[in-house]
Amino acid sequence: MAELPDWIRLQKALSVEAETGFNDLQGHHKRFSEFLRDSLRHAPPYSTPMEQDRWRTLSEDFDKYSALTFAQRQHLVANTRRFLQESRQISERPQVAEATKSPVVAKSKRPKTKSLQATGGLRSKHPLEQSITYLKGIGPKNGERLAKLGLLTVRDVLFYYPRDYLDYARQVKIRDLKPGETVTIVGTVRRCNCFNSPRNAKLSIFELSLYDGTGTLKIGRFFAGARFRNRGWQERQKRMYPMGSTVAASGLVKKGKYGITLDDPDLEVLGDAQEEIDSDTVGRVVPVYPLTDGVPASLVRKAVVAALPAAVEIRDPFPTALREHHGLVQLPVAIAHIHFPPDNDALSLARRRLVFDEFFYLQLGLLSRRKQQQAQTQIRMAPTGELIDQFYEVLPFQLTGAQGRVVQEILVDLQETIPMNRLVQGDVGSGKTVVAVVAILAAIQAGYQAALMAPTEVLAEQHYRKLVGWFNLLHLPVELLTGSTKTAKRREIHSQLETGELPVLVGTHALIEDPVQFNRLGLVTIDEQHRFGVAQRAKLQRKGDNPHVLTLTATPIPRTLALTLHGDLDVSQIDELPPGRKPIQTTLLSGRDRNHAYDLIRREIAQGRQIYIVLPLVDESEKLDLRSAIEEHQRLSEVVFPEFKVGLLHGRLSSADKDAAITAFRDRHTQILVSTTVVEVGVDVPNASVMLIEHAERFGLSQLHQLRGRVGRGADQSYCLLMSSSKSDTALQRLRVLEQSQDGFFIAEMDLRFRGPGQVLGTRQSGLPDFALASLVNDQDVLELARGAAEELILQDSTLELWPLIKQELNRRYEKLMGGAIFT
Ligand code: ADP
Ligand code: MG
Repeated sequence: MAELPDWIRLQKALSVEAETGFNDLQGHHKRFSEFLRDSLRHAPPYSTPMEQDRWRTLSEDFDKYSALTFAQRQHLVANTRRFLQESRQISERPQVAEATKSPVVAKSKRPKTKSLQATGGLRSKHPLEQSITYLKGIGPKNGERLAKLGLLTVRDVLFYYPRDYLDYARQVKIRDLKPGETVTIVGTVRRCNCFNSPRNAKLSIFELSLYDGTGTLKIGRFFAGARFRNRGWQERQKRMYPMGSTVAASGLVKKGKYGITLDDPDLEVLGDAQEEIDSDTVGRVVPVYPLTDGVPASLVRKAVVAALPAAVEIRDPFPTALREHHGLVQLPVAIAHIHFPPDNDALSLARRRLVFDEFFYLQLGLLSRRKQQQAQTQIRMAPTGELIDQFYEVLPFQLTGAQGRVVQEILVDLQETIPMNRLVQGDVGSGKTVVAVVAILAAIQAGYQAALMAPTEVLAEQHYRKLVGWFNLLHLPVELLTGSTKTAKRREIHSQLETGELPVLVGTHALIEDPVQFNRLGLVTIDEQHRFGVAQRAKLQRKGDNPHVLTLTATPIPRTLALTLHGDLDVSQIDELPPGRKPIQTTLLSGRDRNHAYDLIRREIAQGRQIYIVLPLVDESEKLDLRSAIEEHQRLSEVVFPEFKVGLLHGRLSSADKDAAITAFRDRHTQILVSTTVVEVGVDVPNASVMLIEHAERFGLSQLHQLRGRVGRGADQSYCLLMSSSKSDTALQRLRVLEQSQDGFFIAEMDLRFRGPGQVLGTRQSGLPDFALASLVNDQDVLELARGAAEELILQDSTLELWPLIKQELNRRYEKLMGGAIFT
């Protein structure tokens, strides 16, 4: 039987598609049309044959979406929206109505809703699950508009949090505006216009004049893109701000060419021309909701006000003890106060409770998923033994405190009946390899085989060389398997793996290719795990019978992100470098200092050292006017450093040419290597002492830190020069973090603060949940509490049967949170 559809997600997908101009938006996993096609393929349970037919037809329509014209797409999306809204109401009717239902019901429109109401069916439903169309002042027409925001039931509205508040206490008169302040002004619309720019064919302009008794304020907005030149769109903009209506505008005051104005302000229509603003709302805080095209703020606010009395029906799933232990206010109170806070304290308490909930259910979901997926394993490894002892003896150094701690965490995992799933984060050079080797030795000692997989041949080879050095002393064989391993050697490795003669194999993704078979694979170690897909990791795991898994990464992500993304694995941190490392002297330079930088480079080369020069882009075709690597290489080798040999490495070279460039640099045939970020991983030349990075402001801090890690590998002083001609204070401040710190964890944390989670993770890491209120930057303390609370619950009863309301709420939220993207 088909599942109930996720109405909200479907509606959201449809409205996002409409907002972005019906371009068949690409989601993380699917395109919009694929998502709709798949979601509509099966009608909800208890559908009549006719309803099923309709679902199937729509699904087929979306299958052909790419071939439709703009107008056809528009129609299909609008029809689907309406259809889904009706279907949801039908599917939520009580079972009594089920028996008497006529098979044609899905076809008819408005009357059916009426007749449903007449049966009294909906009235018997829980007040929170009632359709909003029964709220005071919200009829079917408004209901349809609100559905664009995913708001269908009273519960949806109550849990639709404001994104901000207008504080009328801080309201300023137009006459008193001063540049540089952030303010709210309230005025009536004197004029509103929206038109194509006479000068720029791509631009449309929106103008609004507001009058407040003390003066007139002109606000201008610019929209770039073809869809804004659409007459209909422009008319709709104008209709949103009818003459005489009251509008609140908040934003930064600035002095422009035409006098004082607000910089890209938030605009809110408070009331119609006729309707005086509710005197109740003036002089207090008014919620501002996230909106979409065609849904006025006043409508959302009206729905919230009408729904608010139902907040008392919300049952708080948390037991009192848990709530009080964490100092959380009751859920109904939090909901009431998040919409209309009586004062600031009440607002922050409400917010704290709701943020806690967002984190709590996510962590609970991650932890219970892990519990469910936890296979048992027969593979058990003792934490001590001859091999590990011998290894410590031959190792020319002592483990750092952090290494020791992480090794212990791993060894404890390896004795458990559930397979280890641990991520080790540590800066470049923090000594992750040694830690992995101890785990590998624990496996061999217990009679198992181990695999170590790296994302590039260069890295795999590096690991292999390191392991061979140590394992020779322990009389243990180790082999390397990559794409370039010769056939004869490859065959030999395959057979030694199958017999079990070969205890350790290092390699690239060649390790997961089919013919590779282990005899008794007990441990899988993956370096730079984020460079592999989930499927690749799983494939390696399946080469054994629930082996333990250890992953390593030199790109530490802040704990809030780690808990959110990897809440289902354990995370260890090596937050200490081996002794004797000289900090890399890091300096931020502007274009004017370029010659100083080149002087330093000449001096270092004169002493036999080598230089990296890194650029953000490969060629000029990019829009931004950045020096391209190819052009820069030419300039450096012909004009600036004609006396030196300058190599070039970038992503568009063939892999043979890449190898050649790296080898030439490693063998000191070239003194300078001009490169794009491909050097970030895998190039290890200890003789290099200067890392010069052009347009440093274009990179993330963690990435710069990674790049910097390419130098400073020996005992001598090394330098990192960050070139930036940026005029932005924030950009320069951000870069100064690198001058001040060499600590990857701190730097990642700062990066998060400056750029936000989306930017820090980039597109490669999808699946960041869609929190309504919680901030991964500012709410770390609440996240830790919520994580702790979730762990405790799972520990007491992993089935959550003890707390049926929590379980119910988890089911309701988890899917949505984990979706991250809308189209999963
Ligand atoms: P990464 O964490 O970047 O993978 P590696 O494991 O490659 O770091 O270690 C970097 C270098 O530091 C290697 O040459 C390694 O032998 C050395 N090293 C690791 N741990 C220590 C230690 N505790 N004391 C001294 N040197 C160490
Ligand atoms: Mg490493």
